[in-house]
Amino acid sequence: MKSHVRAVVIGGGVVGVSALYHLAKKGWGDDVVLIEKAELTSGSTWHAAGLLPLFNMSYSVGQIHKYSVNLYGALEEETGQAVGFSRVGNVRLAMNQDRMDEYYQYAATAKTIGVNVEFLTPDEILKLWPMCNIDGLVGGIVHPDDGYIQPADLTQSLAKGARARGATIYRNTMVLNIEQTTSGAWLVQTDKGDITCDHVVSATGNYARKTGAMVGLDIPVIPVEHQYIVTEPHPELQQRKQDGLPELGVLREADGSWYLREENGGFILGPYEQGAPCCYVDGPDPRAEYELFQEDIDRIAPHIEAAMNRVPAFAEVGIKKVYNGAIAYTPDGNPIIGPAWDRDNFWLNEGHSFGITAAGGAGWQLAEWIVDGEPTIDMLGVEPRRFGDYATKDYLIEKNEEAYASVFVTHFPDEERPAGRPLRLAPCYERLQAMGAVFGQKFGWERANFFATDGAPQQDDWSFRRSNWFDAVAKEVKNTSENAGLLDMTAFAKCRISGRGAEAFLDYMVANVLPKNIGGIALCHSLNRNGGIHSEFTIRRESADSFYLVSAGALQRLDHDYLQKRMPKDGTVQFTQLTDAYGVLVLAGPNSRRILQRVTDADLSNEGFRWLTSQDITIGDAAVNAMRVNYVGELGWELHHPIEHQNEIFDLLFDAGADLGLKPFGIRAMDTMRLEKSYRMVGTELSIEYSAYESAMERFIKTDKGDFLGRDALLARKEAGCKTLLITMEIADIDDADALGNNALVKGGEIIGRATGGGYGFRVQKSLALGMVKPELATPGSAFDIEILGKLYGATVISDSPFDPKNERLRDVNGTNN
Ligand SMILES: Cc1cc2nc3c(=O)[nH]c(=O)nc-3n(C[C@H](O)[C@H](O)[C@H](O)COP(=O)(O)OP(=O)(O)OC[C@H]3O[C@@H](n4cnc5c(N)ncnc54)[C@H](O)[C@@H]3O)c2cc1C
Repeated sequence: MKSHVRAVVIGGGVVGVSALYHLAKKGWGDDVVLIEKAELTSGSTWHAAGLLPLFNMSYSVGQIHKYSVNLYGALEEETGQAVGFSRVGNVRLAMNQDRMDEYYQYAATAKTIGVNVEFLTPDEILKLWPMCNIDGLVGGIVHPDDGYIQPADLTQSLAKGARARGATIYRNTMVLNIEQTTSGAWLVQTDKGDITCDHVVSATGNYARKTGAMVGLDIPVIPVEHQYIVTEPHPELQQRKQDGLPELGVLREADGSWYLREENGGFILGPYEQGAPCCYVDGPDPRAEYELFQEDIDRIAPHIEAAMNRVPAFAEVGIKKVYNGAIAYTPDGNPIIGPAWDRDNFWLNEGHSFGITAAGGAGWQLAEWIVDGEPTIDMLGVEPRRFGDYATKDYLIEKNEEAYASVFVTHFPDEERPAGRPLRLAPCYERLQAMGAVFGQKFGWERANFFATDGAPQQDDWSFRRSNWFDAVAKEVKNTSENAGLLDMTAFAKCRISGRGAEAFLDYMVANVLPKNIGGIALCHSLNRNGGIHSEFTIRRESADSFYLVSAGALQRLDHDYLQKRMPKDGTVQFTQLTDAYGVLVLAGPNSRRILQRVTDADLSNEGFRWLTSQDITIGDAAVNAMRVNYVGELGWELHHPIEHQNEIFDLLFDAGADLGLKPFGIRAMDTMRLEKSYRMVGTELSIEYSAYESAMERFIKTDKGDFLGRDALLARKEAGCKTLLITMEIADIDDADALGNNALVKGGEIIGRATGGGYGFRVQKSLALGMVKPELATPGSAFDIEILGKLYGATVISDSPFDPKNERLRDVNGTNN
């Protein structure tokens, strides 16, 4: 066994072998090895049904799947090893309008990333699938380019490609322990000897938590049992073959939660049922290989019946074999691909529930990240750090079973799944609930999405279109802009960076200049090495060597890990986690000053408390850091307070605001108000795929301040010219829906950009969207079409911040709101 290499991949399933292949392809061939405890594919890979669905609502996963399908199509030619790719196409059925809306929304994503998808009428479905009963169908979609593959052959082909580039595979070798040495190198101990390396890639499938435990990480992966049925041959399928007819494509009835395909003249049926249990909660036995569980036909009986109804021929054949195997899951059903938190150079490629499909793209991006230091596509949807330490074993069991059962649910954009909730509660949770809050969840925190008032049911109404909550949000926006509103933002990620080296460190980490004065605030962005935006922080200077940082709640682990991994190791900079210690209440609207003034002695006048500054003030018994900023474009303050004082502050504000119209508002109202201000968000308008200039963030980028992370690459990209530019759009003649993001922007039949987000702006009374277009089309007045739920609408570029472009309300220029 080699004693030192650059990278060790652990796990010889399709996912690990693809990572090995791509690392070798990036030029590390002689310096990368894979360690597999048994034979290649002996984990989950051997028994997979081999389907390669391109369909995925996530922008990240969509691109990963697309890459895989392209790669697999070319692999045999490259390696000489067949992969058994049957490009039979893939038909998805729709039995209701919501499902069609889901397909329209999906097709928008597909279009913008270049995936071929076509819409079908029931009659067209019948032509493609003559054995399908089309009763009750409203339509469907087909992916002509996908199909299924032989997972074991695919893995062997990738292994051959990796070996041809010099990579080594050690089979029948078990990793027993992993340690990081003082030099930062990893020591991987196996039953056949030790090996040191710079990078470890964990691709251990159902063993993910066991591997994580070796390095002290609680990996948010627990598998669920998944079954599929293989039937005896059916004469009609056999006859079709004899007649030289093409193989039928994969058929998916999403509303019945199953897929069906041909297999040796018979069928394979794969249901995603309710009640499938988690398995291997503490990991499989170390010696387990080629393992299957006892089948449970009763559990999948409703899906078998649904399939019999849809494809009557399926009812006419006997069951030959049932496969019941472990399929790795995460709480949201997407894999985790990327760096582990709190550990340098430890990479996760785990939690794959569609691992045959994702392996190619996952290996590609991981190799880019490891070798070049950055991925090349936006990986937020599969980021390992999108979960936090709230994801305990019990939580994972609940959530992963739910994720499995939700594979075929309609993926509404405003969907909020119930399992594992409520989990993290701000102290004011019950008060908000009593006021009508309908909650959603982010990073484990319950957050009010909107407030049901005037007898409206206190429940959500998910839809791709404007739904019941639309009126509730309209009321919240009106009240906040005419009187005052209060929003609980306790879920914000918060931390302190302090110490002798804090200023120099942070100055290097962000592209803006840090606030100079104590109490000063600045919006700052951490770029990646390629000049794309990785993180956004509101930074408050607390003293000469202490800074308070606020960022998106959902990105807590990601943002904090990004900082911590780059801190100097000499003790001159300290990181303090403050998320759970501080609550945040946002008070906004023209009456906010009057209300706040009733509960504090601080001078809140324009002169005494300037916009974009902060002060330590007192409210009741609480010491509060009041920051005069907000995300909704109104006069207002973010009140950051010790969490134990939250309800005291909450009650004082509502008492003081009773005659000034203070009412709560929720996240959805905040989101429409931020659109009216063209405020960007990480993960949509701000992404590593766009340079900071392409996201039109120049006022926050100070290239003349000295060096900062990503500066050189950013300047090089500027020199090369922006490929795309961020715009605000107004959409004409639409009255029941708004852009949801990922909508294609079209001119003369050509896709010229994509919307990143959208919604209705209640204050400007317009349907708005933000998006990226070719620079020559980015000027106000430029017109083209936007596709929303399958229809084209006129879109016109308008100037940024259609609501209050001069920020007069935020600044309260007339000083009238005293
Ligand atoms: C019934 C069923 C049907 C499926 N159908 C499909 C499908 O149609 N399409 C699709 O895309 N996906 C499908 N899947 C999912 C797919 O099988 C998995 O996502 C995929 O196989 C995961 O591959 P992997 O490499 O991550 O894991 P695995 O194949 O499980 O590989 C992990 C490997 O790591 C090794 N290992 C673990 N610990 C150690 C250690 N300490 N030392 C050395 N080696 C170690 C194991 O021995 C194992 O070989 C299906 C799954 C099931 C259960």
